Amino acid sequence: MTSQELYEDVQRQATDMGVRVWISMDPGTYAQDGEPYGEAGKDDDGWEAVWLSHPPTTSRAYLVALHELGHHATRWGRQLLKERESLAWEWAIEHSIIPLGPDEWATVAGYLASYDSNRAKPSERFDRLLLRARALSVPTTSRSGTTRVLE
Ligand SMILES: [Zn+2]
Repeated sequence: MTSQELYEDVQRQATDMGVRVWISMDPGTYAQDGEPYGEAGKDDDGWEAVWLSHPPTTSRAYLVALHELGHHATRWGRQLLKERESLAWEWAIEHSIIPLGPDEWATVAGYLASYDSNRAKPSERFDRLLLRARALSVPTTSRSGTTRVLE
């Protein structure tokens, strides 16, 4: 899978859903640690949109982009945090054109873990997906501690 194919797949899936893709959020505000980051919402024209800190040309940035599209596909905002985030990740996993290997599952586990707090209402869906992602990923030193809040 080339980076161009990943990029085009995000554009195609977004177009099919009627969602606009905006790339390059202010890196000073949104991507201080260099990790791909995204948001889903409505743009100033009232269109459903996703904002991405990085073009979806790596497996990590690609999965983040699909996750944001997943928020629109799974009725963003109608569920509580953990339920909403795990639904969007399940959608991303299901619609990914790259097969998820240990690195990709570690990406999913890392982002999921970033929503895990005692303040968030428990979700069985979330717990199941996090367990699955952790089981299918392998820890590496380069990835240690990379969790950040992604909504
Ligand atoms: Zn999210």
